[in-house]
Amino acid sequence: MTLTRNQLLVIPGWDAIYWEIYATTACNLRCSYCYNVTQQENTEPCYTIGELVSFLKKYARKGDSISFIGGEPSIRTGWISGVISETRAFDFRYQIYTNGISLGKFPPDFLNRFDNILVSIDGDEEQNDRYRGQGTFSKVIENLEIARPVFKGKIIARMTATADNNVEKSVKALTALPYFDTVYWQYENRKDFHAYPTEQKWDEIRNLTDFWVENLEQGRFIHLQTFVSIVVRLLDQEGNQAYHNEDYSLPHFTLGCGAGHHYMQIYITGDIYACPELVGQSCNLMGDIYTGITQSVRIGDFSNTDKCPQCPEFEVCHCRCLHCTPCEYCSLLKRTIAELRKKLPLIKALIDSGTIDKEDFYISEHLEEMF
Ligand code: SF4
Ligand code: SF4
Ligand code: SF4
Repeated sequence: MTLTRNQLLVIPGWDAIYWEIYATTACNLRCSYCYNVTQQENTEPCYTIGELVSFLKKYARKGDSISFIGGEPSIRTGWISGVISETRAFDFRYQIYTNGISLGKFPPDFLNRFDNILVSIDGDEEQNDRYRGQGTFSKVIENLEIARPVFKGKIIARMTATADNNVEKSVKALTALPYFDTVYWQYENRKDFHAYPTEQKWDEIRNLTDFWVENLEQGRFIHLQTFVSIVVRLLDQEGNQAYHNEDYSLPHFTLGCGAGHHYMQIYITGDIYACPELVGQSCNLMGDIYTGITQSVRIGDFSNTDKCPQCPEFEVCHCRCLHCTPCEYCSLLKRTIAELRKKLPLIKALIDSGTIDKEDFYISEHLEEMF
């Protein structure tokens, strides 16, 4: 039996679904940490745009968002343009996740169909090119130089925090560049996460929290989405409307990012999954575009999340990302939350005094994967 849209939506006041659509699984880079095992094959959606539109007519509404992902979606601009023009009547928002190496080739009209462009980049040239390939950093910068002046939406830097990439150095390098509206990082999705150098990473992240708050004290709001996401939830927990714009309370069974309810992946086969990390896992298949969505996915359905409901930081974190559920990553998350909680009175005082504006926390209502 298929579920209706209303049966999927469970987060109060959040009436949107983020559809992440694989434009391809092929890619023109070969990043060393890539989990996209088919990156070398030229694999494209095997459904037609008409079949996609028929599915969206059943499940999607105005205000939903479509993100084009991959592989590298920008190698299929024609297909993406087709989807955008065939879904115009829905009044969707659009985003694209890209490695950025062709961004400057897009005509401004094409670029400006997107609300947000999420660019994968791992810090300074040396650190980025070690993982993403020699010469990649300078290519991305060349392309941002062309795209930034013409693109009207937000450009977001997405960084992977690998074991030997210095997060502090990388994030500072990214925030010093003039292209990004926000920066966030995710921990490397590795199988041997026990080998992740947690203590060293914590030193880097704690230094970054100091750097961020020192800048706030100077009235400089450096938008680090990874910290902002935590701080808005901490402010929200205090229930004081003076400091937050949103109600972030979530049902107990929901992942913080909304995966499995408000956030879904449409794979090239037409199969639908809660999260890109789960593509191909039949136990986490939610349905397909031909028959519809037959099941939602809850926290307990994911491996590694059993401990989350008992976690003291559950209300803030909500197993924010499956990447972060191994204990090594959790220890970083918990310490980051605790560190920012310590800094909360100062942040509130800075808002009260007008040194920073609470509105600066909210740069876009349609950003996901923000932790
Ligand atoms: S750009 Fe993305 S999809 Fe391509 S190899 Fe790198 S991580 Fe994988
Ligand atoms: S910190 Fe870890 S255990 Fe706690 S809620 Fe987040 S992911 Fe779950
Ligand atoms: S934020 Fe993490 S858990 Fe949520 S959909 Fe993205 S990768 Fe999956």
